[in-house]
Amino acid sequence: MRCLLNQNPRAELKIAPQRPERRWIRICYLLPILFLIGCGVQGEEICTIPATESDTGYVLASDCHAVVWGSSDLPIRISIDDSISDTFVNAIFDAAATWESAAGRRLFEVVRNDDGALNQMSFVSNGDWKFGSDLTAATQFATNNKERRMISAQIYFNLSYKFSISGERDAIDMASVALHELGHALGLTHLDTAIDAESVMNAYLGRGVIRRTLSRGDLERLNNHY
Ligand SMILES: [Zn+2]
Repeated sequence: MRCLLNQNPRAELKIAPQRPERRWIRICYLLPILFLIGCGVQGEEICTIPATESDTGYVLASDCHAVVWGSSDLPIRISIDDSISDTFVNAIFDAAATWESAAGRRLFEVVRNDDGALNQMSFVSNGDWKFGSDLTAATQFATNNKERRMISAQIYFNLSYKFSISGERDAIDMASVALHELGHALGLTHLDTAIDAESVMNAYLGRGVIRRTLSRGDLERLNNHY
C-alpha cells in the first residue's frame, strides 16, 4: 500500500461545490511547523506503509505512521485566551467533551486565560490574520517526527467571519469549527467527503451549517489511537 504524503494544505486550496443558497467555506489550514520538513510535494510517493495505516486520517510522520499525543501528554492543556468572548467558551467546552465522550477518556484540559499554557486558542482580528482570507480558522501544530508525537497545537479563529452558537444562517457555527479544530489538535487531518461525507474533519463548512456530531468514521479513527 502506498502512502501519499500529500498533506501540503496549500495544495488543496479551492472553493468547494456550492449549494444555491450557501457558499461553502474552507474551515482551515493545517499549518505544520515541523511536520512537513522532509516530505515530498503533493502526489509524490516517498514511502510505503502497512495497509492498516494507509487511511489513518491522521497527520503522518515521514515514515507514514500517524502522529498522535502520547498517553503521558494527556490531557492536552489548551487555554482559551481573552480574545475569545464568554459567548463562545461553552461551545468550545462542548466540542472537547464530544471528543472525550467518543474516546471514553479525558483528552483535553480546556482552561481560560492561561498565558503559560503550551497550547492556545484565540481569535485573530482581520488585520492580523495571516493564513488566507478564505479560511475561518487555522490550527498550527508542531510534531516530533521521529517519535511520531504531537508536541503542541495552536488554534486560531478568523474574526473577519461572523461566528455564532445559535445556527444563524449568515454565520459560522462556532461549535462545529471548534470540534473540527480540536480534531486537528488531536492529530487528525482533513478528510475528503468521498471518504466520509459526514466527518467533522471535512475541510468545508457552509454558513449556518451545524456539524457537531462525530461520524462513525470519526469514531473509528479516533479510537484507533485514543
Ligand atoms: Zn481543518
